[in-house]
Formats: sequence, C-alpha cells, structure tokens
Amino acid sequence: MRRQAQFENLRASELYCPTCRKLQPVRERLLLVLPNAELYDYRCITCGLSLGSREVKASTQALVSASSMPRRRPDPGVHGA
Ligand SMILES: [Zn+2]
Repeated sequence: MRRQAQFENLRASELYCPTCRKLQPVRERLLLVLPNAELYDYRCITCGLSLGSREVKASTQALVSASSMPRRRPDPGVHGA
C-alpha cells in the first residue's frame, strides 16, 4: 500500500473567532515577504479580526530558479588567536 503525503497543501480555512464566537472562514492575506519565507495573516471575513498568522517557507527549488544571485557570500577571513 502506498500513502501520499498531502500535508503540503494543508492550510487553515476556518479558525475560531472569539468575537463571532464560532468557527469562521478566514481570509489569507500576505503580510510580509522575507528573503526565504512569507508571512501570512488570517483574518475573520466577518469581523476582520486577526485570528492567526503563518510563516510559509519558500521552497529551495523556487528560490534557485527565481533568483540569479548567488546564495553564498564569501565572508571576510577571521583571524583566530
Ligand atoms: Zn469574527
């Protein structure tokens, strides 16, 4: 038997909203873009309360194809004692 891992696409679609006092559909909103990750904010679509956030790490493959800049920078040599 084979089992396929499908957790990659798992994401919150409903979260408990303390204002609405029930599970509410949330709207995913891109909050912040980091060099190697994206921060998403989840807000209740009814009252707009922020119910949570999630950091999504960008895949290495996407980074390689999207960026032509070398990832490694030569550090200046540190002279040890
Ligand atoms: Zn709400």
